[in-house]
Amino acid sequence: MSLLPTPDPPAPHRVLILGAGYAGLAAAIQLAARTKRRQDIHLTLVNAQEQFTERLRLPMTATGRQTAPLSIPGLLDGTAARFVRGWVTALNTEARTVRIDDDHDLPYDTLVYALGGVTDTVSVPGAEDHAYTLNTVQDAGLLAARLARLDRGTVVIGGSGLTGVETAAEIAERYPHLDVLLLGRREPGATLHPGARTYLRTALDRLGVRVRSGTEVAKVLPDAVELSDGEHIAADAVVWTSGVRMSPLAAAAGLTVDAHGRIVTDDALRSVSHPEVYAVGDAAAIRQGYGVMHGTCQGGMPTGVHAALSILRALSGRRPKPFRFGYYHTPVSLGRQDAVVQFTHPDDSPRRLYLTGRLAARYKEAVTAAPWPTYGRMKKMPASGAFWPHGGRFTRTRNPR
Ligand SMILES: Cc1cc2nc3c(=O)[nH]c(=O)nc-3n(C[C@H](O)[C@H](O)[C@H](O)COP(=O)(O)OP(=O)(O)OC[C@H]3O[C@@H](n4cnc5c(N)ncnc54)[C@H](O)[C@@H]3O)c2cc1C
Repeated sequence: MSLLPTPDPPAPHRVLILGAGYAGLAAAIQLAARTKRRQDIHLTLVNAQEQFTERLRLPMTATGRQTAPLSIPGLLDGTAARFVRGWVTALNTEARTVRIDDDHDLPYDTLVYALGGVTDTVSVPGAEDHAYTLNTVQDAGLLAARLARLDRGTVVIGGSGLTGVETAAEIAERYPHLDVLLLGRREPGATLHPGARTYLRTALDRLGVRVRSGTEVAKVLPDAVELSDGEHIAADAVVWTSGVRMSPLAAAAGLTVDAHGRIVTDDALRSVSHPEVYAVGDAAAIRQGYGVMHGTCQGGMPTGVHAALSILRALSGRRPKPFRFGYYHTPVSLGRQDAVVQFTHPDDSPRRLYLTGRLAARYKEAVTAAPWPTYGRMKKMPASGAFWPHGGRFTRTRNPR
């Protein structure tokens, strides 16, 4: 019998995922499902809320429609992943720790940064104080309460991007007695095929949404908006949907970020300055052959899955594969019964093909409902989440980092 002491097993590798939105949850489930029986990896997921925020449904929530509660800890049941409810207040990339609630630290060996972004209410004075936003269920609930109290009046939607369009349509359909005004620099649906754009505009007209494009809001006041030419428009509620702002946490921690504050990644989705940090979803600046990806759910979920697979490859001593993604559609709801679904080339430019009407509305609803069941399937069959269009020639980077 040997009297030599048995060596201690190596300390487990600690993977810490920050943010359980569309991208962070995809990373967490993919990793949790593939490491169920492994003792050598400890997985922790941190998020501000226990409930998953279906951001795609927030324009509906804003008109008082209830959504099903989706429990993140419940989804992780049966895996070894730990859920921590808390607010990330700082990252220390030297010590490799993350401060939670300004109160305690969580250590990591590999970090996945998936904190997303919020609507930019700081660039336009007054927006932060006087406008409603749609970042969280709570924000949407505040707007819903305000709209329900209005017998008449004007609701101004600031921002004519697709979130602004969906929000305007949803409010106008639900509250036909309110005057809904959509303000923005660009024509609504500017990125769509001309036919789809015309359809969208006709649908907004039918719903009674007034559109003023080519306008710039200079200030949001308690009961009005002021345009850049000085015009005042009285408003009983202002909803701000324009622009995205990133959390300052990444830049403050010394991670290389782009002009929008997004973490710049290499082709495996690792931070170019801190390779032990992966960045996914809206919070990451991910370059493809056609340019830097913009924030969507369709692109965010694959980034989470890819980061998980890259981490596992790196831990087994293999080189992570480059991430490639091509867009395929832009579904836009126009109230509950109507929508436009624009099919796109991988670089997100519009194809000639688009759907409209009830069929498009059903398509949009299917897309909106899809993420949660996808996570459930991934938990049982991780490979089921690992398919997405790679974009062919559109996604070949000419200058890979
Ligand atoms: C109203 C609205 C409608 C949209 N509609 C569409 C659409 O129809 N189609 C589409 O493709 N995209 C749509 N988007 C964009 C889409 O929601 C985002 O691209 C997507 O949510 C990005 O996923 P993510 O995981 O990167 O970030 P998120 O989904 O935003 O998740 C980030 C998570 O991190 C948490 N978090 C943030 N900061 C902290 C912190 N400091 N501490 C702890 N937790 C934190 C948040 O609570 C959240 O759970 C919409 C966005 C909005 C706001």
